Amino acid sequence: MRRIDYIVLHCTAGPQNQTIDTIKRYWKNELGWSKPGYHYLINADGSYEKIHPIESPTNGVAGNNAHSIHISYIGGVEVLQSINKSGKVINVVGKSVDNRTEAQIATQIAIIKKLKPYAPNAKIVGHRDFSPDKNHDGILQPNEWMKACPSFDVKSWIKSVGL
Ligand SMILES: [Zn+2]
Repeated sequence: MRRIDYIVLHCTAGPQNQTIDTIKRYWKNELGWSKPGYHYLINADGSYEKIHPIESPTNGVAGNNAHSIHISYIGGVEVLQSINKSGKVINVVGKSVDNRTEAQIATQIAIIKKLKPYAPNAKIVGHRDFSPDKNHDGILQPNEWMKACPSFDVKSWIKSVGL
């Protein structure tokens, strides 16, 4: 069994109607990854898939995967419609937003609770909490985030839901 230091929460930074298959194809075909980006993916309706065994690392946060389990919800950004050169309506990803559905939140909590016995000492963090604290004030400011992922403050959220 590997040691788990972090349960890391993510968003896919895509439209809420993205399918898990689309995301898996993107990792494989566009990024050329042999392993997925997360262990769990949560659909907008709260259903989820465990897409990789937790005993094996995934590609959630570069340099921080050996001792992490990654959980992502589908969404986390505004999606705007635009028209491309050929006149086709396309989706354009806008700014980051916490658009988790109630069902997704309930599933996040359920998965984290399920993982607790397996990873009793793990810290629950957001992807962006791995960003370097550039001005060394001990607080990660929005302008220091490498990514906005998962589009909400995990620290205050876990406190608010009693995790
Ligand atoms: Zn992420």
